[in-house]
Amino acid sequence: MNPMDALPVVVIGAGPVGLAAAAHLHERNLPFTVLEAGATPASAVRQWGHVRVFSPWRYDIDPAARRLLDDAGWVAPDPEALPTGTELATRYLQPLAELPQLKPHLRCGARVEAISRLGLDRLRSAGRESTPFLVRLADGEEILARAVIDASGTWRTPNVLGASGLPARGETAAAAYLEHALPDVLGADRDRFAGRHTLVVGAGHSAANTLLSLAELAADEPGTQVTWAIRGTSPTRTYGGGDADALPARGALGSRLRAHVDAGRIRLLTGFSVYALTPADGRVTVVVRHANHGEEAVSVDRVVAATGFRPDHSVAAELRLDLDPVMGATRALAPLIDPNEHSCGTVPPHGVDELAHPEVGYYAVGMKSYGRAPTFLMATGYEQVRSVVAALAGDWEAARDVQLDLPETGVCNSNPDDSATGDNCCGPAPTAEPVGRGLATGIGGGLLSAPLELVAADASTGGAGGCCGA
Ligand SMILES: Cc1cc2nc3c(=O)[nH]c(=O)nc-3n(C[C@H](O)[C@H](O)[C@H](O)COP(=O)(O)OP(=O)(O)OC[C@H]3O[C@@H](n4cnc5c(N)ncnc54)[C@H](O)[C@@H]3O)c2cc1C
Repeated sequence: MNPMDALPVVVIGAGPVGLAAAAHLHERNLPFTVLEAGATPASAVRQWGHVRVFSPWRYDIDPAARRLLDDAGWVAPDPEALPTGTELATRYLQPLAELPQLKPHLRCGARVEAISRLGLDRLRSAGRESTPFLVRLADGEEILARAVIDASGTWRTPNVLGASGLPARGETAAAAYLEHALPDVLGADRDRFAGRHTLVVGAGHSAANTLLSLAELAADEPGTQVTWAIRGTSPTRTYGGGDADALPARGALGSRLRAHVDAGRIRLLTGFSVYALTPADGRVTVVVRHANHGEEAVSVDRVVAATGFRPDHSVAAELRLDLDPVMGATRALAPLIDPNEHSCGTVPPHGVDELAHPEVGYYAVGMKSYGRAPTFLMATGYEQVRSVVAALAGDWEAARDVQLDLPETGVCNSNPDDSATGDNCCGPAPTAEPVGRGLATGIGGGLLSAPLELVAADASTGGAGGCCGA
């Protein structure tokens, strides 16, 4: 027997996808250890526990996890109901983590700080594939592993507000005025927003969720004001597929948001690229810079940064990763999910082959596997880990038989005439996008396809025309 086979597969993160990986590893009889940074399983999901997801339970439960839970007499939720994050954690993920097949192998409060190969830095090739992984925890403990399934998500590494991808000027100093995506506006965090003016920056579902909660708060709490800022010129893609959306809850979210904007209850600012933040007198001024050097400023009490998330690959810096330079996903997966390219097309099913890196035995799965693409769905991750675990067990036939059954958005099926008016988020009528057993990206129109107004460089601070300029 290969001595590596006696070592556990280390799974990083006990979110939906990490716990699904554990269920598959159990079924395949492979030793495993799940390392979770938080105090409980599903730590990230619990932080957005007040948010109701838009995919019903039938898409949210991993099949291997389901088999284990059913054997233990678990009472499954209504497959058509929409859970909140808290319900996802308490009704599914916590019971899963407590099963005797998983619990002894799960360690909470175990933050992975770095991964390498025992005795081999990134440069060393000889014997690499037969050398155990070395997983170092924040407290210095080191664990050896035969393979690493990194399901650590992206929740802890949100994007910055600055339009250039770097923190805006003053962003760090203004931290006291900034909110992580998805604050609990109607619950625990209510006091921070009641009777105040909040600016929500971002065009995704997180922004839409927060805006709807703020609009509800404003109806009850006099003086509550809501402003929404997006970089693009139109909110159409946030409004989404409406009645045509195969996930009705997702369609309804956009339709409700549109109604608030149309009624003036939410003020919408387009072409809004954050350049600087300046705190003063208990408020924060957010400055936008336009291509013509014109500036616009909005003064508010709170700013919600709903600008998306990015993966943290620094833990794997000593491994040989082959990352797409745009997405931060593997090169094989990136073109399938790139929101610059994909409008309403389906993402083909994918598994171990698309997730593999040159570092044999290391796989980033789940939310992290999508890099900066915002379109990840749990069911995608469940199929990923089924495939990866089958490969680790040597069952390549099962590993390569990847399948997905997910709803489409429906937004691409709208009247092609709309595209001529520019009203159709999908641009020109869809033609030969590859379709098959796949999943909808959930984003109509190509997330980044809308033109952005370019931000002017600042000559006085070393931009174009500065000391190095022509
Ligand atoms: C508000 C919201 C709504 C969503 N709605 C849907 C929906 O309707 N349908 C859908 O399919 N998907 C939805 N998603 C997307 C996605 O499916 C979820 O984010 C899902 O939780 C991703 O699962 P994950 O296991 O990959 O990552 P996470 O749930 O983020 O879990 C990662 C875990 O890893 C831990 N961790 C992080 N770093 C480390 C470390 N260094 N060491 C150890 N542990 C670490 C974290 O504490 C966390 O518990 C939604 C996401 C959000 C934010």
